[in-house]
Amino acid sequence: VKDLKKVFHQHGKRDVTAVENMSFSLRAGEILGIVGESGSGKSTVAKLITRLEAVTEGQIILDGQDITHRKGRALKSIYDKIQMVFQNPVGSFDPRKTLGYGIGESLKNRGVPKEEIRKKTANLLEQCGLEASYMDRYPHQVSGGQCQRAAIARALAVEPQIIICDEATSALDVTVQKKVLDLLMNLQENKKLSYVFICHNLALVQQFCDRVIVMKDGRIVEEGIPDEVIQNPKDAYTKMLVDSVL
Ligand code: ATP
Ligand code: MG
Repeated sequence: VKDLKKVFHQHGKRDVTAVENMSFSLRAGEILGIVGESGSGKSTVAKLITRLEAVTEGQIILDGQDITHRKGRALKSIYDKIQMVFQNPVGSFDPRKTLGYGIGESLKNRGVPKEEIRKKTANLLEQCGLEASYMDRYPHQVSGGQCQRAAIARALAVEPQIIICDEATSALDVTVQKKVLDLLMNLQENKKLSYVFICHNLALVQQFCDRVIVMKDGRIVEEGIPDEVIQNPKDAYTKMLVDSVL
């Protein structure tokens, strides 16, 4: 990500610069944490990388290819490599379709033959700690934690290189949160995935991330190895963040 900038133009209101001057890289197999107060631009960065929002300025390079302004089919092809898991999993599934349907669609797009889809879907759910029978349930028929597992299974269905977790566990109760985190970390290790791990919890970042970026007002104020950043914060905002949680 190079010199990324996002300005939201709002009809009849002042423009909002949500992200500015942002550059960072994500290496293969790395877990990069992004922390920062509410409104600092974390989700916007996630939506720019996944091109759910258009980029105002700057560049996004994926595997050596500039994807900043891709459209149509060329844009769709980036989702073979990048997947996103959101805070509210229920909202990311179509309420009229079963959980298995969503996962099956991803498999189908990847060219998995029709007769193998149910079996592969079952495998993916099982990898994520859900019985195969969950494929026939609708999003409203499962708990938040179960739905988040299904969302992770759906992300895995495309065999991505990168998963962006935008507060993927924040909405879950602590015991379920721990289970989903353990799942994410096991998957990461086994499949050599890279994660962008957006969260509010510095303790989680310290435990799981290889590197952390601290954001404030749309900019990076600090970047480094979590232990070092937490033990010796250089920026005033990071100091405050560390003091407030540890
Ligand atoms: P949180 O921790 O609360 O999730 P965040 O760091 O993810 O916050 P963003 O959602 O990236 O913050 O928002 C950054 C800024 O951009 C905020 O001021 C927000 O109001 C603004 N913003 C985000 N999306 C839009 C939009 N579609 N239109 C206008 N402003 C937006
Ligand atoms: Mg957010």
